[in-house]
Amino acid sequence: MNIILFGPPGAGKGTQAQFIVKKHNYFQLSTGNLLRDEVKLKTSLGSKIEQLISNGEFVSDEAVNTLLKQAITHLKFRDRIIFDGYPRNIEQAINLELILNEFKQTIGHTIFLNVSRDIIEKRIMGRMTCEKCNMTLNEYFNKEQIELHPCGPEHLKKRKDDNLEVVIARYDTYMTATKPILDFYSKNLNFTEIDGAQEIDQITTKIDDILKV
Ligand code: ADP
Repeated sequence: MNIILFGPPGAGKGTQAQFIVKKHNYFQLSTGNLLRDEVKLKTSLGSKIEQLISNGEFVSDEAVNTLLKQAITHLKFRDRIIFDGYPRNIEQAINLELILNEFKQTIGHTIFLNVSRDIIEKRIMGRMTCEKCNMTLNEYFNKEQIELHPCGPEHLKKRKDDNLEVVIARYDTYMTATKPILDFYSKNLNFTEIDGAQEIDQITTKIDDILKV
């Protein structure tokens, strides 16, 4: 079964997804990373995407859906995907159901990491992501881990869109477009809300418990 990790930017979705990948043999599908990979390839779609991301706006549903379908239909990922940062609006949620139904797959768990905006600002302003292995650390909370990072600390980079102005724009976009889809998922039995302000390990333990069911 597949899993949806849902929550505002900076809630810790990527951080927790990395644990699930290692421990439960899943594949993390971050549409943000799929999009950033397209930007790196410097295609014309990639340059349009880059402009939108740097303004804190959403990329068109069509572009995201194309990239998403490619991943879902990949045999290696079958029923072992963690959706991290997708869906972000009702249209995407409906689209995801349609694609999964078409390929006879399901969502086993929807996990919502709930975090307030003041905590998010701190987390995002300190976020550093490894350009090689995609590991996420925080320059305020993980100083030692950054120095000892196996790929080398020089590969840990700040994302261009992780500045205060863009963080606020991203949070506002989340509140208007993404939060309403909570109603869509929270009716389901497989929906769980976790207080995302807790320590990373505490959240991981809760997610472990959910995945055991
Ligand atoms: P998202 O994928 O939801 O945007 P990330 O996983 O990238 O969020 O986390 C954002 C930042 O907050 C990162 O720097 C990460 O190291 C840090 N972080 C994540 N979860 C926690 C937590 N529970 N407590 C403290 N810091 C966290």
